Amino acid sequence: MSRFAPEVLPARGVQFPLSVSVLIVGAGAAGLTAALAARDAGADVLVLERDAVPQGSTALSSGLVPAAGTRAQAARGIVDTPEIFARDIQAKARGHAEPRLVVTLTTTIGPTLDWLADVHRVPFSVVEGFLYPGHSVLRMHGTPKRTGAELIVYLGDATARAGVDVATDAHVHALYVEDDQIAGVRIDRPDGTMEMIGCGALVLACSGFGGNAGMVRQCIPEMASALYFGHAGNQGDALAWGWGLGAATRDMGAYQGHGSVATPYNILVTWALMMEGGFQVNAAGQRFSNEHLGYSEQARAVLAQPGGFAWNVYDERRHMLGLEFEDYREAVAAGAIHSAPGMRELARELGLPEQALADTQNAVEDMVNGRQSDPWARDFSAKPVLKAPFYGVKVTGALFHTQGGLLVDDSARVLRAGGAPLPNLFAAGGAACGLSGPECWGYLSGNGLLAAIGLGRIAGSSAAATSRFRLP
Ligand SMILES: Cc1cc2nc3c(=O)[nH]c(=O)nc-3n(C[C@H](O)[C@H](O)[C@H](O)COP(=O)(O)OP(=O)(O)OC[C@H]3O[C@@H](n4cnc5c(N)ncnc54)[C@H](O)[C@@H]3O)c2cc1C
Repeated sequence: MSRFAPEVLPARGVQFPLSVSVLIVGAGAAGLTAALAARDAGADVLVLERDAVPQGSTALSSGLVPAAGTRAQAARGIVDTPEIFARDIQAKARGHAEPRLVVTLTTTIGPTLDWLADVHRVPFSVVEGFLYPGHSVLRMHGTPKRTGAELIVYLGDATARAGVDVATDAHVHALYVEDDQIAGVRIDRPDGTMEMIGCGALVLACSGFGGNAGMVRQCIPEMASALYFGHAGNQGDALAWGWGLGAATRDMGAYQGHGSVATPYNILVTWALMMEGGFQVNAAGQRFSNEHLGYSEQARAVLAQPGGFAWNVYDERRHMLGLEFEDYREAVAAGAIHSAPGMRELARELGLPEQALADTQNAVEDMVNGRQSDPWARDFSAKPVLKAPFYGVKVTGALFHTQGGLLVDDSARVLRAGGAPLPNLFAAGGAACGLSGPECWGYLSGNGLLAAIGLGRIAGSSAAATSRFRLP
Protein backbone atom coordinates (compact mmCIF):
# COMPACT_ATOMS: atom_id res chain seq x y z
CA MET A 1 0.00 0.00 0.00
CA SER A 2 1.40 3.37 -1.01
CA ARG A 3 2.04 6.08 1.59
CA PHE A 4 0.90 8.86 -0.76
CA ALA A 5 -2.19 9.60 -2.78
CA PRO A 6 -1.67 11.11 -6.25
CA GLU A 7 -1.82 14.90 -6.04
CA VAL A 8 -1.42 18.11 -8.04
CA LEU A 9 0.65 20.83 -6.32
CA PRO A 10 1.76 24.40 -7.17
CA ALA A 11 5.21 24.56 -8.78
CA ARG A 12 6.07 28.07 -7.61
CA GLY A 13 9.32 27.99 -5.65
CA VAL A 14 9.86 24.25 -6.19
CA GLN A 15 13.38 23.22 -7.26
CA PHE A 16 13.98 20.41 -9.75
CA PRO A 17 17.65 19.36 -9.55
CA LEU A 18 17.19 17.23 -12.71
CA SER A 19 15.12 18.14 -15.76
CA VAL A 20 14.46 16.36 -19.05
CA SER A 21 12.61 17.37 -22.19
CA VAL A 22 10.09 14.55 -22.09
CA LEU A 23 9.15 12.76 -18.91
CA ILE A 24 6.96 9.67 -19.15
CA VAL A 25 5.04 8.03 -16.31
CA GLY A 26 4.72 4.25 -16.80
CA ALA A 27 6.84 1.74 -18.73
CA GLY A 28 4.19 -0.41 -20.40
CA ALA A 29 3.59 -0.48 -24.16
CA ALA A 30 2.32 3.12 -24.16
CA GLY A 31 5.22 4.55 -22.17
CA LEU A 32 7.96 2.69 -24.01
CA THR A 33 6.49 3.50 -27.44
CA ALA A 34 6.16 7.17 -26.43
CA ALA A 35 9.79 7.10 -25.28
CA LEU A 36 10.98 5.70 -28.63
CA ALA A 37 9.01 8.32 -30.56
CA ALA A 38 10.25 11.20 -28.39
CA ARG A 39 13.83 9.96 -28.65
CA ASP A 40 13.53 9.59 -32.44
CA ALA A 41 12.38 13.22 -32.48
CA GLY A 42 15.60 14.24 -30.73
CA ALA A 43 14.34 14.75 -27.17
CA ASP A 44 16.08 13.64 -24.01
CA VAL A 45 13.66 11.27 -22.39
CA LEU A 46 13.21 9.67 -18.99
CA VAL A 47 10.62 6.98 -18.21
CA LEU A 48 9.51 6.57 -14.58
CA GLU A 49 8.15 3.17 -13.56
CA ARG A 50 6.81 2.35 -10.11
CA ASP A 51 7.76 -1.35 -10.30
CA ALA A 52 11.22 -2.91 -10.03
CA VAL A 53 10.78 -4.44 -13.49
CA PRO A 54 8.68 -2.78 -16.23
CA GLN A 55 5.80 -5.06 -17.08
CA GLY A 56 2.37 -3.51 -16.64
CA SER A 57 -0.74 -5.06 -18.14
CA THR A 58 1.23 -5.20 -21.37
CA ALA A 59 3.34 -8.11 -20.09
CA LEU A 60 0.18 -9.97 -18.94
CA SER A 61 -1.53 -9.51 -22.29
CA SER A 62 -1.50 -11.65 -25.42
CA GLY A 63 0.45 -8.83 -27.03
CA LEU A 64 -1.72 -8.67 -30.15
CA VAL A 65 -2.08 -5.30 -31.88
CA PRO A 66 -4.65 -4.64 -34.62
CA ALA A 67 -3.45 -2.52 -37.54
CA ALA A 68 -4.54 -1.89 -41.12
CA GLY A 69 -2.33 -1.56 -44.17
CA THR A 70 0.89 -2.88 -42.66
CA ARG A 71 3.69 -4.42 -44.65
CA ALA A 72 3.18 -7.63 -42.67
CA GLN A 73 -0.38 -7.79 -44.04
CA ALA A 74 0.75 -6.98 -47.59
CA ALA A 75 3.34 -9.77 -47.41
CA ARG A 76 0.50 -12.23 -46.73
CA GLY A 77 -1.73 -10.78 -49.45
CA ILE A 78 -4.20 -9.34 -46.92
CA VAL A 79 -6.12 -6.33 -48.19
CA ASP A 80 -7.09 -3.92 -45.42
CA THR A 81 -7.53 -0.18 -45.04
CA PRO A 82 -7.96 2.30 -42.17
CA GLU A 83 -11.53 2.85 -43.38
CA ILE A 84 -12.47 -0.85 -43.04
CA PHE A 85 -10.77 -0.96 -39.65
CA ALA A 86 -12.62 2.20 -38.51
CA ARG A 87 -15.93 0.66 -39.59
CA ASP A 88 -15.20 -2.47 -37.54
CA ILE A 89 -14.36 -0.38 -34.45
CA GLN A 90 -17.54 1.68 -34.73
CA ALA A 91 -19.69 -1.38 -35.48
CA LYS A 92 -18.45 -3.02 -32.27
CA ALA A 93 -18.90 0.19 -30.27
CA ARG A 94 -22.34 0.72 -31.86
CA GLY A 95 -21.13 4.10 -33.15
CA HIS A 96 -20.15 5.35 -29.68
CA ALA A 97 -16.36 5.48 -30.15
CA GLU A 98 -14.98 9.03 -30.37
CA PRO A 99 -14.94 9.49 -34.19
CA ARG A 100 -11.88 11.77 -34.40
CA LEU A 101 -9.77 9.36 -32.35
CA VAL A 102 -10.99 6.41 -34.43
CA VAL A 103 -9.74 8.10 -37.62
CA THR A 104 -6.45 9.17 -36.02
CA LEU A 105 -5.62 5.73 -34.66
CA THR A 106 -6.78 3.63 -37.60
CA THR A 107 -4.73 5.74 -40.03
CA THR A 108 -1.57 5.88 -37.92
CA ILE A 109 -1.33 2.43 -36.35
CA GLY A 110 -0.25 0.69 -39.59
CA PRO A 111 2.73 3.01 -40.18
CA THR A 112 3.47 2.82 -36.44
CA LEU A 113 3.86 -0.98 -36.48
CA ASP A 114 6.01 -0.70 -39.63
CA TRP A 115 8.15 1.93 -37.83
CA LEU A 116 8.53 -0.32 -34.76
CA ALA A 117 9.51 -3.22 -37.01
CA ASP A 118 11.92 -1.32 -39.30
CA VAL A 119 13.51 1.18 -36.96
CA HIS A 120 13.23 -0.54 -33.59
CA ARG A 121 13.41 -4.23 -34.51
CA VAL A 122 10.07 -5.31 -33.07
CA PRO A 123 9.23 -8.20 -35.42
CA PHE A 124 5.47 -8.09 -35.97
CA SER A 125 3.68 -10.67 -38.09
CA VAL A 126 -0.03 -11.25 -38.72
CA VAL A 127 -1.91 -13.80 -36.61
CA GLU A 128 -3.60 -16.10 -39.11
CA GLY A 129 -6.00 -19.03 -38.88
CA PHE A 130 -9.07 -17.30 -37.43
CA LEU A 131 -10.72 -13.90 -37.13
CA TYR A 132 -11.14 -12.25 -33.74
CA PRO A 133 -14.76 -11.24 -33.06
CA GLY A 134 -15.74 -8.06 -34.87
CA HIS A 135 -12.70 -7.91 -37.18
CA SER A 136 -13.64 -8.36 -40.83
CA VAL A 137 -10.00 -8.81 -41.90
CA LEU A 138 -6.92 -10.58 -40.49
CA ARG A 139 -5.16 -7.66 -38.80
CA MET A 140 -3.96 -8.79 -35.37
CA HIS A 141 -0.17 -8.48 -35.23
CA GLY A 142 2.09 -10.12 -32.70
CA THR A 143 5.74 -10.83 -32.02
CA PRO A 144 6.84 -14.46 -32.65
CA LYS A 145 5.61 -15.96 -29.36
CA ARG A 146 2.31 -13.98 -29.45
CA THR A 147 2.73 -12.89 -25.82
CA GLY A 148 2.76 -9.49 -24.16
CA ALA A 149 5.70 -10.69 -22.05
CA GLU A 150 7.72 -10.96 -25.25
CA LEU A 151 6.39 -7.66 -26.62
CA ILE A 152 7.51 -5.73 -23.54
CA VAL A 153 11.00 -7.27 -23.82
CA TYR A 154 11.26 -6.15 -27.46
CA LEU A 155 10.13 -2.64 -26.53
CA GLY A 156 12.50 -2.55 -23.54
CA ASP A 157 15.46 -3.65 -25.68
CA ALA A 158 14.55 -1.01 -28.27
CA THR A 159 14.48 1.78 -25.67
CA ALA A 160 17.85 0.63 -24.31
CA ARG A 161 19.34 0.70 -27.84
CA ALA A 162 17.83 4.15 -28.39
CA GLY A 163 19.52 5.46 -25.24
CA VAL A 164 16.32 6.08 -23.26
CA ASP A 165 16.70 5.94 -19.49
CA VAL A 166 14.04 3.95 -17.64
CA ALA A 167 14.07 4.60 -13.88
CA THR A 168 12.43 1.73 -11.99
CA ASP A 169 11.18 1.76 -8.38
CA ALA A 170 10.18 5.33 -9.23
CA HIS A 171 6.60 5.86 -8.08
CA VAL A 172 5.25 9.20 -9.28
CA HIS A 173 2.89 10.73 -6.72
CA ALA A 174 2.81 14.49 -7.28
CA LEU A 175 2.57 16.68 -10.37
CA TYR A 176 3.76 20.32 -10.01
CA VAL A 177 1.93 22.89 -12.09
CA GLU A 178 2.30 26.58 -12.85
CA ASP A 179 0.07 28.51 -15.28
CA ASP A 180 -1.40 25.23 -16.56
CA GLN A 181 2.10 23.96 -17.45
CA ILE A 182 3.41 20.81 -15.83
CA ALA A 183 6.77 21.81 -14.37
CA GLY A 184 7.78 18.45 -12.96
CA VAL A 185 6.95 15.54 -10.70
CA ARG A 186 7.91 14.03 -7.37
CA ILE A 187 8.84 10.38 -7.21
CA ASP A 188 8.89 8.28 -4.07
CA ARG A 189 11.40 5.47 -3.75
CA PRO A 190 10.81 2.23 -1.82
CA ASP A 191 13.46 3.27 0.74
CA GLY A 192 11.40 6.36 1.64
CA THR A 193 13.47 8.91 -0.28
CA MET A 194 11.91 11.42 -2.67
CA GLU A 195 13.23 12.97 -5.89
CA MET A 196 12.06 15.99 -7.85
CA ILE A 197 12.32 15.85 -11.65
CA GLY A 198 11.44 18.73 -13.96
CA CYS A 199 10.17 18.35 -17.52
CA GLY A 200 9.36 20.19 -20.71
CA ALA A 201 6.40 17.90 -21.33
CA LEU A 202 4.81 15.05 -19.43
CA VAL A 203 3.26 11.89 -20.91
CA LEU A 204 0.85 9.96 -18.69
CA ALA A 205 1.26 6.30 -19.67
CA CYS A 206 0.37 4.80 -16.30
CA SER A 207 -2.81 3.10 -17.56
CA GLY A 208 -6.29 2.92 -16.08
CA PHE A 209 -7.83 2.04 -12.72
CA GLY A 210 -8.44 -1.72 -12.85
CA GLY A 211 -6.19 -2.23 -9.82
CA ASN A 212 -8.14 0.29 -7.73
CA ALA A 213 -11.06 -1.62 -6.20
CA GLY A 214 -12.74 1.58 -4.95
CA MET A 215 -12.73 3.19 -8.39
CA VAL A 216 -13.95 -0.02 -10.05
CA ARG A 217 -16.80 -0.19 -7.51
CA GLN A 218 -17.72 3.40 -8.29
CA CYS A 219 -17.34 3.41 -12.10
CA ILE A 220 -17.97 -0.24 -13.07
CA PRO A 221 -20.15 -1.66 -10.27
CA GLU A 222 -21.02 -4.78 -12.32
CA MET A 223 -17.36 -5.89 -12.10
CA ALA A 224 -16.77 -4.88 -8.48
CA SER A 225 -16.48 -8.47 -7.28
CA ALA A 226 -14.99 -9.95 -10.47
CA LEU A 227 -11.46 -11.26 -10.76
CA TYR A 228 -9.11 -8.47 -11.91
CA PHE A 229 -6.68 -9.97 -14.39
CA GLY A 230 -4.58 -6.89 -15.19
CA HIS A 231 -1.65 -5.16 -13.54
CA ALA A 232 -2.24 -4.39 -9.84
CA GLY A 233 -0.16 -1.19 -10.03
CA ASN A 234 -2.68 0.48 -12.36
CA GLN A 235 -4.41 2.51 -9.66
CA GLY A 236 -6.00 5.30 -11.69
CA ASP A 237 -3.26 7.86 -10.94
CA ALA A 238 -3.56 9.50 -14.39
CA LEU A 239 -7.26 10.08 -13.76
CA ALA A 240 -6.69 11.49 -10.29
CA TRP A 241 -4.14 13.98 -11.64
CA GLY A 242 -6.36 14.75 -14.62
CA TRP A 243 -9.34 15.54 -12.41
CA GLY A 244 -7.06 17.69 -10.24
CA LEU A 245 -6.19 19.68 -13.35
CA GLY A 246 -9.77 20.02 -14.61
CA ALA A 247 -9.29 17.51 -17.44
CA ALA A 248 -12.23 15.87 -19.21
CA THR A 249 -12.83 12.13 -18.90
CA ARG A 250 -15.13 9.90 -20.86
CA ASP A 251 -16.68 6.41 -20.92
CA MET A 252 -15.65 5.60 -17.36
CA GLY A 253 -17.89 2.51 -17.36
CA ALA A 254 -16.08 1.00 -20.35
CA TYR A 255 -13.76 -1.96 -19.94
CA GLN A 256 -12.29 -5.04 -21.52
CA GLY A 257 -13.71 -8.07 -19.86
CA HIS A 258 -13.09 -11.69 -20.79
CA GLY A 259 -15.46 -14.61 -20.51
CA SER A 260 -12.87 -17.36 -20.66
CA VAL A 261 -10.44 -17.48 -17.75
CA ALA A 262 -9.81 -21.05 -16.56
CA THR A 263 -10.85 -21.41 -12.96
CA PRO A 264 -9.48 -21.96 -10.34
CA TYR A 265 -6.24 -21.74 -12.33
CA ASN A 266 -6.58 -18.10 -13.48
CA ILE A 267 -5.22 -18.81 -16.96
CA LEU A 268 -6.64 -17.18 -20.09
CA VAL A 269 -8.18 -19.71 -22.50
CA THR A 270 -8.13 -18.37 -26.05
CA TRP A 271 -11.41 -17.23 -27.56
CA ALA A 272 -10.29 -18.82 -30.84
CA LEU A 273 -11.97 -22.01 -29.51
CA MET A 274 -15.33 -20.24 -29.60
CA MET A 275 -14.73 -18.48 -32.91
CA GLU A 276 -13.88 -21.81 -34.55
CA GLY A 277 -17.02 -23.66 -33.46
CA GLY A 278 -16.80 -24.30 -29.72
CA PHE A 279 -19.62 -23.18 -27.41
CA GLN A 280 -20.18 -22.27 -23.76
CA VAL A 281 -22.64 -23.88 -21.38
CA ASN A 282 -23.63 -23.12 -17.79
CA ALA A 283 -23.93 -25.50 -14.83
CA ALA A 284 -27.21 -26.76 -16.30
CA GLY A 285 -25.37 -27.85 -19.47
CA GLN A 286 -27.19 -25.19 -21.51
CA ARG A 287 -25.93 -22.43 -23.77
CA PHE A 288 -26.85 -18.94 -22.62
CA SER A 289 -25.54 -16.44 -25.23
CA ASN A 290 -24.13 -15.73 -28.67
CA GLU A 291 -20.47 -16.44 -28.06
CA HIS A 292 -19.49 -14.68 -31.27
CA LEU A 293 -20.53 -11.21 -30.10
CA GLY A 294 -17.20 -10.89 -28.30
CA TYR A 295 -15.23 -12.13 -25.32
CA SER A 296 -15.44 -8.79 -23.50
CA GLU A 297 -19.21 -8.73 -22.96
CA GLN A 298 -19.06 -12.47 -22.35
CA ALA A 299 -17.44 -11.73 -18.96
CA ARG A 300 -20.75 -10.24 -17.83
CA ALA A 301 -22.75 -13.08 -19.38
CA VAL A 302 -20.64 -15.76 -17.68
CA LEU A 303 -20.72 -13.99 -14.31
CA ALA A 304 -24.52 -13.89 -14.55
CA GLN A 305 -24.67 -17.72 -14.68
CA PRO A 306 -25.14 -19.84 -11.53
CA GLY A 307 -21.94 -19.60 -9.48
CA GLY A 308 -20.46 -17.19 -12.04
CA PHE A 309 -19.04 -20.09 -14.06
CA ALA A 310 -19.29 -21.52 -17.57
CA TRP A 311 -17.69 -24.40 -19.43
CA ASN A 312 -16.08 -24.10 -22.88
CA VAL A 313 -16.91 -27.20 -24.93
CA TYR A 314 -14.98 -28.03 -28.12
CA ASP A 315 -13.14 -30.84 -29.87
CA GLU A 316 -9.71 -32.11 -30.87
CA ARG A 317 -9.39 -29.83 -33.92
CA ARG A 318 -10.04 -26.71 -31.79
CA HIS A 319 -7.79 -28.10 -29.04
CA MET A 320 -4.92 -28.29 -31.57
CA LEU A 321 -5.59 -24.64 -32.49
CA GLY A 322 -5.50 -23.72 -28.79
CA LEU A 323 -2.09 -25.34 -28.44
CA GLU A 324 -0.67 -22.60 -30.65
CA PHE A 325 -1.14 -20.21 -27.69
CA GLU A 326 1.27 -20.21 -24.79
CA ASP A 327 -1.39 -19.62 -22.13
CA TYR A 328 -3.49 -22.50 -23.48
CA ARG A 329 -0.46 -24.77 -23.20
CA GLU A 330 -0.11 -23.56 -19.60
CA ALA A 331 -3.75 -24.42 -18.97
CA VAL A 332 -3.12 -27.94 -20.32
CA ALA A 333 -0.04 -28.33 -18.12
CA ALA A 334 -2.01 -27.11 -15.07
CA GLY A 335 -4.68 -29.77 -15.62
CA ALA A 336 -7.43 -27.27 -16.46
CA ILE A 337 -8.33 -28.86 -19.81
CA HIS A 338 -10.42 -32.07 -19.72
CA SER A 339 -11.10 -34.49 -22.57
CA ALA A 340 -13.27 -37.54 -23.10
CA PRO A 341 -14.17 -39.90 -25.96
CA GLY A 342 -17.85 -38.88 -25.97
CA MET A 343 -20.03 -35.94 -24.90
CA ARG A 344 -21.67 -37.86 -22.04
CA GLU A 345 -18.25 -38.90 -20.71
CA LEU A 346 -17.12 -35.28 -20.98
CA ALA A 347 -20.18 -34.18 -18.99
CA ARG A 348 -19.23 -36.64 -16.24
CA GLU A 349 -15.62 -35.42 -16.32
CA LEU A 350 -16.76 -31.78 -16.01
CA GLY A 351 -19.50 -32.45 -13.45
CA LEU A 352 -22.28 -31.32 -15.82
CA PRO A 353 -25.69 -33.00 -16.39
CA GLU A 354 -25.10 -35.66 -19.09
CA GLN A 355 -28.44 -35.49 -20.87
CA ALA A 356 -28.51 -31.70 -20.96
CA LEU A 357 -25.00 -31.46 -22.43
CA ALA A 358 -25.79 -34.13 -25.02
CA ASP A 359 -28.98 -32.23 -25.95
CA THR A 360 -27.01 -28.99 -26.28
CA GLN A 361 -24.47 -30.69 -28.53
CA ASN A 362 -27.27 -32.10 -30.73
CA ALA A 363 -28.89 -28.67 -30.97
CA VAL A 364 -25.56 -27.09 -31.98
CA GLU A 365 -25.07 -29.80 -34.61
CA ASP A 366 -28.52 -28.99 -36.00
CA MET A 367 -27.56 -25.31 -36.19
CA VAL A 368 -24.32 -26.15 -38.01
CA ASN A 369 -26.32 -28.22 -40.50
CA GLY A 370 -29.00 -25.55 -40.90
CA ARG A 371 -31.77 -27.68 -39.35
CA GLN A 372 -32.50 -25.06 -36.69
CA SER A 373 -31.45 -21.49 -35.94
CA ASP A 374 -29.78 -20.25 -32.80
CA PRO A 375 -32.09 -18.50 -30.28
CA TRP A 376 -29.15 -16.10 -29.61
CA ALA A 377 -28.66 -15.50 -33.36
CA ARG A 378 -25.16 -16.97 -33.64
CA ASP A 379 -24.30 -18.17 -37.14
CA PHE A 380 -22.96 -21.72 -36.77
CA SER A 381 -22.96 -22.50 -40.48
CA ALA A 382 -19.37 -21.52 -41.30
CA LYS A 383 -17.59 -24.07 -39.08
CA PRO A 384 -17.68 -27.89 -39.12
CA VAL A 385 -19.49 -29.86 -36.39
CA LEU A 386 -17.55 -30.93 -33.33
CA LYS A 387 -16.13 -34.44 -33.59
CA ALA A 388 -15.11 -36.79 -30.77
CA PRO A 389 -12.94 -36.75 -28.76
CA PHE A 390 -14.37 -33.72 -26.98
CA TYR A 391 -12.72 -31.17 -24.70
CA GLY A 392 -13.93 -28.90 -21.93
CA VAL A 393 -12.66 -26.33 -19.44
CA LYS A 394 -14.37 -24.54 -16.56
CA VAL A 395 -14.06 -20.76 -16.88
CA THR A 396 -15.15 -17.55 -15.24
CA GLY A 397 -15.46 -13.91 -16.30
CA ALA A 398 -12.78 -11.33 -15.44
CA LEU A 399 -11.98 -7.65 -15.72
CA PHE A 400 -8.88 -7.23 -17.91
CA HIS A 401 -8.49 -3.49 -18.09
CA THR A 402 -10.48 -0.26 -18.01
CA GLN A 403 -11.21 1.65 -21.23
CA GLY A 404 -12.49 4.96 -19.88
CA GLY A 405 -9.98 7.74 -19.32
CA LEU A 406 -8.66 11.18 -20.12
CA LEU A 407 -9.95 12.77 -23.31
CA VAL A 408 -7.13 13.66 -25.70
CA ASP A 409 -6.89 15.53 -29.00
CA ASP A 410 -5.20 14.36 -32.22
CA SER A 411 -1.80 15.13 -30.70
CA ALA A 412 -2.63 13.04 -27.60
CA ARG A 413 -2.77 16.29 -25.61
CA VAL A 414 -5.02 16.05 -22.54
CA LEU A 415 -8.17 18.16 -22.91
CA ARG A 416 -9.85 20.22 -20.24
CA ALA A 417 -13.54 19.80 -19.54
CA GLY A 418 -14.22 22.89 -21.73
CA GLY A 419 -12.29 21.41 -24.68
CA ALA A 420 -9.04 23.43 -24.50
CA PRO A 421 -5.84 21.38 -24.29
CA LEU A 422 -3.47 21.42 -21.34
CA PRO A 423 -0.35 22.73 -23.10
CA ASN A 424 2.32 20.17 -22.15
CA LEU A 425 0.39 17.21 -20.78
CA PHE A 426 -0.20 14.10 -22.92
CA ALA A 427 -1.85 10.74 -22.33
CA ALA A 428 -1.66 7.36 -24.05
CA GLY A 429 -2.81 3.78 -23.56
CA GLY A 430 -5.04 2.94 -20.61
CA ALA A 431 -4.62 6.46 -19.19
CA ALA A 432 -6.58 7.88 -22.13
CA CYS A 433 -10.18 7.23 -23.09
CA GLY A 434 -10.26 4.31 -25.54
CA LEU A 435 -12.40 3.47 -28.55
CA SER A 436 -14.92 1.16 -26.92
CA GLY A 437 -17.93 3.35 -26.15
CA PRO A 438 -19.53 3.38 -22.71
CA GLU A 439 -19.60 -0.31 -21.68
CA CYS A 440 -17.95 -3.73 -22.06
CA TRP A 441 -19.69 -4.67 -25.34
CA GLY A 442 -17.87 -1.96 -27.32
CA TYR A 443 -14.43 -3.48 -26.89
CA LEU A 444 -13.07 -4.73 -30.21
CA SER A 445 -10.16 -7.16 -29.73
CA GLY A 446 -6.94 -5.20 -29.60
CA ASN A 447 -8.43 -1.80 -28.70
CA GLY A 448 -6.13 -1.84 -25.64
CA LEU A 449 -2.77 -2.06 -27.36
CA LEU A 450 -4.07 0.00 -30.29
CA ALA A 451 -4.44 2.95 -27.89
CA ALA A 452 -1.21 2.10 -26.07
CA ILE A 453 1.06 1.83 -29.11
CA GLY A 454 -0.88 4.15 -31.44
CA LEU A 455 -1.38 6.99 -28.96
CA GLY A 456 2.02 6.25 -27.41
CA ARG A 457 3.82 7.17 -30.61
CA ILE A 458 1.69 10.28 -31.13
CA ALA A 459 2.13 11.40 -27.52
CA GLY A 460 5.91 10.87 -27.63
CA SER A 461 6.47 12.83 -30.82
CA SER A 462 4.02 15.60 -29.82
CA ALA A 463 5.63 15.88 -26.39
CA ALA A 464 9.06 16.17 -27.99
CA ALA A 465 7.80 18.94 -30.28
CA THR A 466 6.19 20.79 -27.37
CA SER A 467 9.01 20.49 -24.93
CA ARG A 468 10.90 23.63 -24.00
CA PHE A 469 14.10 21.75 -23.15
CA ARG A 470 15.60 20.32 -26.34
CA LEU A 471 18.84 18.41 -26.82
CA PRO A 472 21.61 20.59 -28.32
C1 LIG B 1 -4.75 -10.97 -19.79
C2 LIG B 1 -4.80 -9.77 -20.70
C3 LIG B 1 -4.72 -9.97 -22.06
C4 LIG B 1 -4.75 -8.86 -22.92
N1 LIG B 1 -4.55 -9.07 -24.25
C5 LIG B 1 -4.53 -7.99 -25.08
C6 LIG B 1 -4.24 -8.15 -26.46
O1 LIG B 1 -3.89 -9.22 -26.96
N2 LIG B 1 -4.34 -7.04 -27.25
C7 LIG B 1 -4.65 -5.82 -26.75
O2 LIG B 1 -4.73 -4.86 -27.51
N3 LIG B 1 -4.86 -5.63 -25.43
C8 LIG B 1 -4.78 -6.68 -24.59
N4 LIG B 1 -4.96 -6.48 -23.25
C9 LIG B 1 -5.04 -5.08 -22.76
C10 LIG B 1 -3.62 -4.47 -22.76
O3 LIG B 1 -2.80 -5.26 -21.93
C11 LIG B 1 -3.63 -3.03 -22.25
O4 LIG B 1 -4.61 -2.28 -22.92
C12 LIG B 1 -2.27 -2.37 -22.48
O5 LIG B 1 -1.23 -3.21 -22.02
C13 LIG B 1 -2.18 -1.02 -21.80
O6 LIG B 1 -0.87 -0.53 -21.97
P1 LIG B 1 -0.38 0.68 -21.07
O7 LIG B 1 1.05 0.92 -21.43
O8 LIG B 1 -1.35 1.79 -21.15
O9 LIG B 1 -0.47 0.12 -19.57
P2 LIG B 1 0.43 -0.91 -18.80
O10 LIG B 1 1.08 -1.89 -19.70
O11 LIG B 1 -0.38 -1.46 -17.68
O12 LIG B 1 1.61 -0.01 -18.21
C14 LIG B 1 1.35 0.98 -17.23
C15 LIG B 1 2.58 1.09 -16.33
O13 LIG B 1 2.48 2.25 -15.51
C16 LIG B 1 3.01 1.94 -14.24
N5 LIG B 1 2.48 2.91 -13.28
C17 LIG B 1 1.20 3.05 -12.85
N6 LIG B 1 1.09 4.09 -12.00
C18 LIG B 1 2.33 4.63 -11.89
C19 LIG B 1 2.88 5.72 -11.14
N7 LIG B 1 2.12 6.50 -10.35
N8 LIG B 1 4.22 5.98 -11.23
C20 LIG B 1 5.02 5.22 -12.03
N9 LIG B 1 4.55 4.17 -12.75
C21 LIG B 1 3.23 3.88 -12.69
C22 LIG B 1 2.56 0.52 -14.00
O14 LIG B 1 3.35 -0.12 -13.01
C23 LIG B 1 2.73 -0.09 -15.39
O15 LIG B 1 4.00 -0.68 -15.55
C24 LIG B 1 -4.92 -7.55 -22.38
C25 LIG B 1 -5.02 -7.37 -21.00
C26 LIG B 1 -4.94 -8.46 -20.15
C27 LIG B 1 -5.01 -8.23 -18.68
